[in-house]
Amino acid sequence: MIVENQVVAPRVLRIAINAPLCSPLEYLPPPNLSPECIPAGARVRVPVGRREAIGVVIEHAEQPSVAVSALRAVRELLDPQPLLDPALMRLLKWTSDYYHHPLGEVIASALPPALRQGRPAQALIEQWRATAAGREALTAAAQPRSARQRELLALIAAAPEGIDADRLAAQWPRWREAARTLRLRGWIERLERHAEVALPQPRIGSPAPAPLLSEAQQLAVTRIEAGAAKFAAWVLQGATGSGKTEVYLQCALRTLARGRGVLLLVPEIGLTPQLVQRCRERLDVPVAVLHSGLSDAERLAAWRACRQGLARVLLGTRSAVFAPVAQLGLIVVDEEHDSSYKQYDGGCRYSARDLALVRARQLAIPVLLGSATPSFETLHNLQAARYQGLVLPRRNDQAPAPRLALVDLRSHTLHLGLATPVIDAMRRHLAAAGQVLVFINRRGYAPTLLCTACGWIAPCPACDARLTVHRAAGQLRCHHCGRLEPLPTRCRRCGHEVKPVGQGTERIEESLRELCAAHALVRLDRDTAAGPGGSEAIVDSVLSGEARILVGTQMITKGHHFPGVSLVVVLNADQGLFSTDFRAAERLAQTIVQVAGRAGRERLQGEVLIQTEYPEHPLLQSLLSGGYERFAAVALAERAAAQWPPFARLAVLRASARSVDGALKFLSAARQCAPSTAAVRLLGPVASAMARRAERYHAQLLIESAERGPLHRLLDQWLPQVQTLARAGRVRYALDVDPIDIQ
Ligand code: ADP
Ligand code: ZN
Ligand code: ZN
Repeated sequence: MIVENQVVAPRVLRIAINAPLCSPLEYLPPPNLSPECIPAGARVRVPVGRREAIGVVIEHAEQPSVAVSALRAVRELLDPQPLLDPALMRLLKWTSDYYHHPLGEVIASALPPALRQGRPAQALIEQWRATAAGREALTAAAQPRSARQRELLALIAAAPEGIDADRLAAQWPRWREAARTLRLRGWIERLERHAEVALPQPRIGSPAPAPLLSEAQQLAVTRIEAGAAKFAAWVLQGATGSGKTEVYLQCALRTLARGRGVLLLVPEIGLTPQLVQRCRERLDVPVAVLHSGLSDAERLAAWRACRQGLARVLLGTRSAVFAPVAQLGLIVVDEEHDSSYKQYDGGCRYSARDLALVRARQLAIPVLLGSATPSFETLHNLQAARYQGLVLPRRNDQAPAPRLALVDLRSHTLHLGLATPVIDAMRRHLAAAGQVLVFINRRGYAPTLLCTACGWIAPCPACDARLTVHRAAGQLRCHHCGRLEPLPTRCRRCGHEVKPVGQGTERIEESLRELCAAHALVRLDRDTAAGPGGSEAIVDSVLSGEARILVGTQMITKGHHFPGVSLVVVLNADQGLFSTDFRAAERLAQTIVQVAGRAGRERLQGEVLIQTEYPEHPLLQSLLSGGYERFAAVALAERAAAQWPPFARLAVLRASARSVDGALKFLSAARQCAPSTAAVRLLGPVASAMARRAERYHAQLLIESAERGPLHRLLDQWLPQVQTLARAGRVRYALDVDPIDIQ
């Protein structure tokens, strides 16, 4: 048989749009363009039903899957050059396959909003120029009739190369009206020129000098650099302050010297101005920043700067893992255990940490995971020799590790939420000029509003949850659905007086103002961070030493270094000890170690006090006797015995409906139609720990397997049927591969 080796021009374009579709849509090229002019990775405008959508070309196909006559044509090509290069397309495709999420939605979430909406990939500047006819008109009899038009034409004609629309706008408030008439008469024309992307901030001066690396730091840098030409996953383990960031910076400098770019990922709250400044001072190149707090214009500028290679280093949070850093040569994931790397509310539920590894492997470059408390997944991969470990001991000039101690709540009475030994310790440290950090992972005044006469507790009408008392704001708030109510003074059921029960940051602040009245105090939680000056002002007042006590939530455990803090108090650790979620213990231990790491960084030996009703709990005991290492060894053995991740692969199918029954029935039906295989177990469905949230009922079905392959094969076969079922039952559902909580 003769195989004809003839190149057939591709006739069909497969295009992904931002919609929940299983596969890309097929289109013909626009009438005026041959398909070769429309590269994969370029954006196009396409008709979808009666509206229009922006899509990205995935590939060319020779044969459509339906009759050619049924296909519609692309309306417009937005990017003559691919917006997304083949390497990024490969990463996005991998993400879509692995998380079983529509490719079009994955791509959309990876792009800055402005590009998603069709804005140009390169910054364009609008300009206006007078035509030959226009210049003639100025002198001839055919002059514009209105004085305004005449003046505008003269102004534009005075700049033979053209004048920026911005400048016109600055001089002429309503210039566009006059311009419209001039343009209609053919006297002026609109131009566009490419602009250099304005980087958020140019670098000033020469790079700041680096400290002399310790032996361990030097070894880490040398080993990473020696393997820089291929994929390698490095785990850099070291307490807060041991010098991990210094290693990142040195590796980044070496990568830059080889002409390659650097991507540095940090947790959402870890991206502090101090870190940005440190990178800008130390690296002799422009550094771009990408995070959720930026405006659309700023994000677009950062993205463009990376893509054009103007910014050589990108510092960013979760979604920056998809950013087009030119010539990427190194990825760093700081605080790799942090749960904010996982997208968990809506959209594709990816882990940026895991995708950093995928991207590094695809590009054959090193990836560096840093943490004082590595995740169990990472520890497991270290043990299996898939990753290589590097350890930084405490630095010589660093204070010794803080001492951890438990305060038994059963043998001490609480005074305003604090046990006597805790109050004594605080006074002692404050008297010795130390600063005190009080961690309580609950914002608001109190978690419960109770009627002592009839036992009524203020409930959220939309959730299986209590409303939190926010006393300063005079409100009850639901932390799950956002509901707000005025704070009542009397019971809704019997009219008796009500009182707040339990502690939140706001109430601890009040207690401490009474107990330690002489010392300035600040509070850092989501509520105060939204105030004037934001979290920066609060952090600054601790750093300057002006504030002596800092009360806060999780927000204080990340990114900030407080050299003057000598005592850390952990108030409600017990919450994490008895959770139904298998990851709760890991998270609690990480939080305690991370918050402890904020203490005694310089002069003083730090002290950490943990208030608990369960001082003999094995988790707390292992943490106290052997630190995170010991705790992790014990807890990992438990995970292995129970066959939980990282010793198994997990996905969870979550559903919500107007009734518990609706959600459970849907999941039962889904379970019934799942292909049966011995390699994969289905567990459930069960109602979620807090089943009712925002008027909807939530339930879940666990999918578990010892290996990744069978799990994904099952999902591939099964999900189309799940989608059909959901449509019929009007149920919302979402699949979460590698979930970080399964409550
Ligand atoms: P980590 O990232 O592990 O928290 P950093 O790299 O931020 O630690 O280091 C903590 C502090 O110690 C910083 O002020 C840093 O400049 C300093 N430092 C780090 N390495 C050295 C070193 N080899 N010599 C002197 N100072 C160092
Ligand atoms: Zn009552
Ligand atoms: Zn609610």
